[in-house]
Amino acid sequence: MTRDTAGGSGDAADGNVSVVSDLAPDCTAADVEPETPYLAEINGIVEYGIFVDLSDNVSGLVHESVLEGTFRVGQELVVELEEVRENGDMAFRPVDIDLEDEETYELVAVDHDYPLTGTDRLEANVGEQIHLEGKIVQIKQTGGPTIFHVADEYGVVPCAAFEEAGVRAYPALEVGDVIRVTGTPEHRDESVQIEVDGLSRLDGEDEAAARDRLEEALEARAQPHDVEPLIDWPAFEKLRPNLEEVATLLRRTVLEGRPIRVRHHADGDGMCAAVPVQLALEQFIASVHEDDNAPQYLIKRLPAKAPFYEMEDATRDLNYALEDRERHGQQLPLLLMLDNGSTAEDVPAYETLAHYDIPIVAIDHHHPDPDAVGGLLDAHVNPYLHDEDYRITTGMLCVELARMIAPDLTENLRHIPAVAGVSDRSKADAMGQYLELAAENGYDEDRLRDVSEALDYAAFWLRYNSGDQLIQDVLELSDAPAERHERLVSFLADRSRAAVAEQLAATDHHVEHERLDSGVHLYRIDVEHHAHRFTYPAPGKTTGEIHDRKIKQTGDPVITVGYGPDFAVLRSDGVRLDIPKMVSELEAELPGAGVSGGGHLVVGSIKFVKGKREAVIDALVEKMAAADIDEALSSAAPLEN
Ligand code: MN
Repeated sequence: MTRDTAGGSGDAADGNVSVVSDLAPDCTAADVEPETPYLAEINGIVEYGIFVDLSDNVSGLVHESVLEGTFRVGQELVVELEEVRENGDMAFRPVDIDLEDEETYELVAVDHDYPLTGTDRLEANVGEQIHLEGKIVQIKQTGGPTIFHVADEYGVVPCAAFEEAGVRAYPALEVGDVIRVTGTPEHRDESVQIEVDGLSRLDGEDEAAARDRLEEALEARAQPHDVEPLIDWPAFEKLRPNLEEVATLLRRTVLEGRPIRVRHHADGDGMCAAVPVQLALEQFIASVHEDDNAPQYLIKRLPAKAPFYEMEDATRDLNYALEDRERHGQQLPLLLMLDNGSTAEDVPAYETLAHYDIPIVAIDHHHPDPDAVGGLLDAHVNPYLHDEDYRITTGMLCVELARMIAPDLTENLRHIPAVAGVSDRSKADAMGQYLELAAENGYDEDRLRDVSEALDYAAFWLRYNSGDQLIQDVLELSDAPAERHERLVSFLADRSRAAVAEQLAATDHHVEHERLDSGVHLYRIDVEHHAHRFTYPAPGKTTGEIHDRKIKQTGDPVITVGYGPDFAVLRSDGVRLDIPKMVSELEAELPGAGVSGGGHLVVGSIKFVKGKREAVIDALVEKMAAADIDEALSSAAPLEN
């Protein structure tokens, strides 16, 4: 029972003034307490007494034996509970308070005290009317009822309200409102849905109290699991608090019913980052939402071909999000950038999204430009921000992130950091430990390389599709039989190698070689004219494969440039390059060349306008010739496509 002081005189407790309770119309017998004076209205007079109403639902008899004087229907008086009979009938007796004399009493409004049933107890209450308080996180209009997805302290439940087929019920309610639902939980397929009898928006103190309660519960549930990292690694420890922050943010996003859109670099490391996080979030979404379909529409993983967030992807993502809001009443999503998203090249895309309520989180190990992206990101995890570098791959980081969200995935994920490391050629000091972990799951280095090749090959042909099932099968993260996983990986890896061999057979005759003054071997290949186009391997990988062979052949520092009409891909080993710096210098030195690009320090790509190709490549070679030889870096270059 909740009481609000109606009179507000404040002196009700001083003993001279009696308190009279006035029940709200929806109050029930459960709200009536003994030894409490209630305002009542006479609704009938019979021989043996009078019938009084305390609310729409509370009536009872005052027996003539306790009555004095005369009465009429409609007259108000003050009564208190005498007894509740076995059949539930209530008997009252009069209280000596003169309602005419307003100085002697104070009227206090009493609201119905709804016993709330949390979404954690719906199954036990199927078929029974219940009350529930929560926040609307989505309003979806179907061809039949309107579905309000309501989040309380325990989860999110769909509540179906029917006005007329396809007509919006309770049109005044909006996403974000805190409401009281009265309705009956019913099974619908495998899940539970509430069939709504009534919805009302809370306001005033009720709303404030409910919001506080929901927020407190949400904060507690958003806390990530405190998991021991898979390996003991001091460099990783520096990034752990950042990852915990992101885990909290992602869990909170799920609890708030907001969708999550994952964009990841479409390479091995990017997929080793994105897939575990996707699986962890799907599992958490399933645990929070009664609606079995929630994991399907609340998280979407999409590859990004470029090592930055392209405007094309950003506008597609935005358009998709706005359509979902319009059609399905969803909130705008949180964007999670993985193995991508740290550089100045991401800024235009981020600024496009900044016009809307779309939080952005980036976890990346490409050389970042925190000044450019910092203000646009809600969270940014990158080893360079902690004096570490690309050797901590995004896959390694995200496996730990996934475990913080859903720790029971740990067993399945043990080989993933090693796949990520092999894919990106990480020479991290922790690689040894990761390889050991993978070996425990039956992965030797050959098998890890096969998985990495298979991922690369599948990613190329999937293009803009996430290929959820196929990629999970390749990574052995699905329920598919182990035997199929092995055959699939071998097949794709073999296909990949055959395609690479075919490509190199064509390019081999056209690779130009020169020895720079520094002693570095420079190889150049025109991938536009001397390689197969629009097939696997693409220019980036083609250049990388040529580069790897030249390192093996020479054993010396090597730079390889694969160029097309308006782009160049750079690979280097044993040379202290700073590609992001070279790009900004070229921008300044060659006005009108339209130079842009970036990537890692020693591996990257550059774009320019067609007519300035020669000037750009000449200037580039000059800069590379001036770069110092760095034996320390010679074994540490990452491979990217
Ligand atoms: Mn990577």
